[in-house]
Amino acid sequence: MSNQLDALRSKVISCVKCNLSKSRTNAVPGKGNPKAGILFIGEAPGRNEDLKGEPFVGSAGKILSEALEYAGLSRDEVYITNVVKCRPPSNRLPLQEEKDACHEHISKELEIIRPKIICILGNTAYGSLLGGDSITKNRGKIIEKNGQLYFLTIHPAAAIYNPELRNILKDDMKILANTIAKLKQ
Ligand code: URA
Ligand code: SF4
Repeated sequence: MSNQLDALRSKVISCVKCNLSKSRTNAVPGKGNPKAGILFIGEAPGRNEDLKGEPFVGSAGKILSEALEYAGLSRDEVYITNVVKCRPPSNRLPLQEEKDACHEHISKELEIIRPKIICILGNTAYGSLLGGDSITKNRGKIIEKNGQLYFLTIHPAAAIYNPELRNILKDDMKILANTIAKLKQ
């Protein structure tokens, strides 16, 4: 199983399917446990992620780790990835053509990991995977689509300067942790 992830990793690292390959320092493949029950999906790598080649290692990543820890989840037991694997210049939103080009990598990740539940982090992932458009109105919800469960929550970057949203993210991670515990029973 992790052989397949290694192969995907190599493919992502050398991918030139869209223009983001020209401005990136490093492509950022997903990272985590190949047997994860939960797969988290954010938007796109930021500056720190681009430099390190790892997802959620900057300030948003710190907020995410804190919320996971609060809910008794560890980063080692989950898998974390993004809608696009390369950093958009100046952290702009990824373009539709970039999201489309990168979709094959997400499909592959989902095929390999087959998570019990996908945790959508913010509007870009919500739009890309479920066609949704207001994560603030829909966060905290569990949705089933084509036999796959999804949990909706805010993007951790939104909580960096907002303690209220940080608490919302923590509460949501508790709901998610309870949900996955029940699914594993
Ligand atoms: N924001 C994201 O959406 N993904 C990352 O990996 C880092 C910040
Ligand atoms: Fe390839 Fe995705 Fe990077 Fe575009 S963003 S170059 S599709 S890995």
